[in-house]
Amino acid sequence: MKSKEIRSQFLEFFKSKQHAIVPSAPMVVKNDPTLMFINSGMAPFKEYFLGNGKPKSNRIADTQKCLRVSGKHNDLEEVGMDTYHHTMFEMLGNWSFGDYFKKEAIEWAWELLTEVYKIDKDILYVTIFEGDESEGLARDTEAYNLWKQFVPEDRILNGNKKDNFWEMGDQGPCGPCSEIHVDIRSEEEKAKVAGKDLVNQDHPQVVEVWNLVFMQFNRKANGSLEKLAEQHVDTGMGFERLCTVLQNKQSNYDTDVFMPLIREIETITNSKYGEDEKKDIATRVIADHVRAVAFSIADGQLPSNTGAGYVIRRILRRAIRYGFTFLEKKEPFIYKLVETLSDQMGDAFPELIKEKNLITNVIREEEQSFLRTLDQGLLLLENVIETADSKEISGRKAFELYDTFGFPIDLTALILRERGYSLDEKEFDAELQKQKDRSRAATKVKTGDWIVLEEDDVEEFVGYDTLETQVRITRYRKVENKKDGEMYQFVFNLTPFYPEGGGQSGDKGYLKAADGGLTYIIDTKKENNLIIHFAKTLPRNLEGTFNAVVDGLYRSRTEANHTATHLLHQALRSVLGTHVTQKGSMVHSRNLRFDFSHFSKVTSEELKQIEDFVNARIREGITLEERRNIPYQQAIDEGAIALFGEKYGDAVRAIKFGNSMELCGGTHVQNTKDIWHFIITSEGAVASGIRRIEALTGDFAKQYFIDRSESFASIQNALNNAQDPLKAVESLQEENQNLQKQVKELLKDKAKNLKGDLKSEIEQINGVNFLAKKIDLDAAGLKDLAFEMGGETENLFLVFGSEQDGKALLACYISKELAAEKNLDAGKIVRELGKFIQGGGGGQPFFATAGGKNPAGIDEALEKAKEFLK
Ligand code: ATP
Ligand code: MG
Repeated sequence: MKSKEIRSQFLEFFKSKQHAIVPSAPMVVKNDPTLMFINSGMAPFKEYFLGNGKPKSNRIADTQKCLRVSGKHNDLEEVGMDTYHHTMFEMLGNWSFGDYFKKEAIEWAWELLTEVYKIDKDILYVTIFEGDESEGLARDTEAYNLWKQFVPEDRILNGNKKDNFWEMGDQGPCGPCSEIHVDIRSEEEKAKVAGKDLVNQDHPQVVEVWNLVFMQFNRKANGSLEKLAEQHVDTGMGFERLCTVLQNKQSNYDTDVFMPLIREIETITNSKYGEDEKKDIATRVIADHVRAVAFSIADGQLPSNTGAGYVIRRILRRAIRYGFTFLEKKEPFIYKLVETLSDQMGDAFPELIKEKNLITNVIREEEQSFLRTLDQGLLLLENVIETADSKEISGRKAFELYDTFGFPIDLTALILRERGYSLDEKEFDAELQKQKDRSRAATKVKTGDWIVLEEDDVEEFVGYDTLETQVRITRYRKVENKKDGEMYQFVFNLTPFYPEGGGQSGDKGYLKAADGGLTYIIDTKKENNLIIHFAKTLPRNLEGTFNAVVDGLYRSRTEANHTATHLLHQALRSVLGTHVTQKGSMVHSRNLRFDFSHFSKVTSEELKQIEDFVNARIREGITLEERRNIPYQQAIDEGAIALFGEKYGDAVRAIKFGNSMELCGGTHVQNTKDIWHFIITSEGAVASGIRRIEALTGDFAKQYFIDRSESFASIQNALNNAQDPLKAVESLQEENQNLQKQVKELLKDKAKNLKGDLKSEIEQINGVNFLAKKIDLDAAGLKDLAFEMGGETENLFLVFGSEQDGKALLACYISKELAAEKNLDAGKIVRELGKFIQGGGGGQPFFATAGGKNPAGIDEALEKAKEFLK
């Protein structure tokens, strides 16, 4: 059975059991500070399990793109080493939100596996939770009895808390789970060791395929468990593992999910999969990682230096490094796999086809730049080896290479080994640990339990229509981290505060209590469908009504910027073409930032047109047409633009200004006139194929003009109030050029005189013309002088020293014939002498230079130069 059919049969099966089938959510998480990437099928539904929202159906099934490379689930180091853990994989899942529970979940799982997929019952094992005394939890006999209908009792195994009690995180919903494992070993192997002894023992052919989680509890901040009001089912089956079983393979990589990629890697790298373990690991790593990276880019997460982007960059670098070291690919090639990947998975995930160009370009560029880093790292490592004073290389040095240049430690170790050196790994590990501790301390967040003052279903957002309203606090909690210290988070029964989202920053403002006391709201964010208000203090009395007031000036400036991004988007598509799509935006009260796909620099002519386009829409005074709660499809049919990597509900809000129409949850001006004016302040590249424009509107645009005209006035002033400042500057530049020319001439003359003086100082030692002297010239000057003198004097051996800007320079010149005859090497000599100035250098046998940080050692170096002639 082809993987495509396996996927669709799963969905068909649960559809027949009245489940609504939904598309996979984007893999990159936006509104959840505790999660960077979706790491299991349940993550997009967290808000429902937490009771912060209602799903459209009580029964849902889907296939969800997951990534397990950070946080609680991190399989990165396993990937490629084994044959059944991936970074990115699909998790097939069915959910019950307060509807069916253990009985149906178990019966349907069995029916699907044994009757639809027709898996041989004799290769299946199941596990149930054995209970845990310290938590006061009993054995899950309910699950046991349900399994007993289908499975012989000796194949129902007890599992401990680690394997059979599932938790979302340190806090939140959790419960016992029941797993289904397969034993796909040969009959021969099975005869030797019983399958039940290998379950949950990391055996590559006895693996877990499906986990059925029964959510019954909520874990509180103090670690205790409380019963949930409603019981839920959350199941997750590894799609690639299922394919291995159904296609009678021994490894996920042998299925049609990975084979096309592996064949392509074989062709590109001219290697054969299945012959050499190291090459096989490298091939698996690359086949796996290209999927993770491609899907992330399609979902809008580009590789970068921080946060989620950095995780993606590290995954790609891991793949590049394996290719570099084990498949000997020294030039970019992983980007070529994107074609195969999108051919193969584009049907199920159309974003791969739509974003193919971008993915290819971004990966190619990342490969190029990391390969350059590797080259540079190799040079630096060479230097470390050359200057080492023992055969063991310091772990601190290796850490420096790793930390500052991204040079991978295993590559360092490998090269050292090849060269007969070893690495102080303990010291390296200690440095790494220190760094981890530092960053952990910086990001550690302590979150208290919600203290619920009032049960409330939905926290309605009224901020589109009003900036001020009466609210009650329904729950609050204390949070603490190193950066912000102690803070409080509040949820209201309704709120005028816009929570950060869609690129727009969250509202600020205050709460006014009946007694007049004020609590300042410093930020507003959305988390698991709750609108959370941040404050530094608690109101004296938490009960009763408050007047909630949004900072109107901050909001209106932000709105001007937000509407301007829509107009800018429209302008870009009209001036540059409809290939332009939004790749990110940041809308503050101060300015706006807009990232978009486009493959060349935007010319200043085009920028001018774009600015004019936006300003023309502003002058037209177009009134906002807002459509709330219209069906998604209707909005799209009417021409609204939706963004990739964004999760839309069935009902959406559309924002229309004239011909610009976008799906958007943000707040906007009532009329484009309110924006006043739009100025582009910069344009540049953020990644291959992605450009960024920054711009100002309103008050800040006005301030920009004022600043400009003030600095113009001061320039004019500095130019003695010249009527034409441009002309004045040009004549200054000309004058400056002439002066520079004169200085050059004078220096030349000086050098000529110097040469004459120096010639007379040359001494004869053992038939060699020798001179060692300190001279006030820069590196280029020293070189010119040395070569000129060399041209006029035979058998010459020169060493010059110089101090420039607090640094020391040495240059050594030896006539070619002399170098050959006496076997002298200027390169070696400057390296030796370099020790006196605490530096290093090199060059050729007849000319070499060294630089160092200790000018005080120059005299000694010159002193010692003579000894090379003895
Ligand atoms: P394992 O012990 O094999 O790592 P797990 O206990 O971490 O699995 P769950 O968190 O229960 O797995 O996830 C549900 C299912 O998702 C698993 O039964 C498995 O089939 C699949 N799965 C989990 N992690 C991976 C991965 N890294 N790559 C591929 N499939 C996975
Ligand atoms: Mg795992």
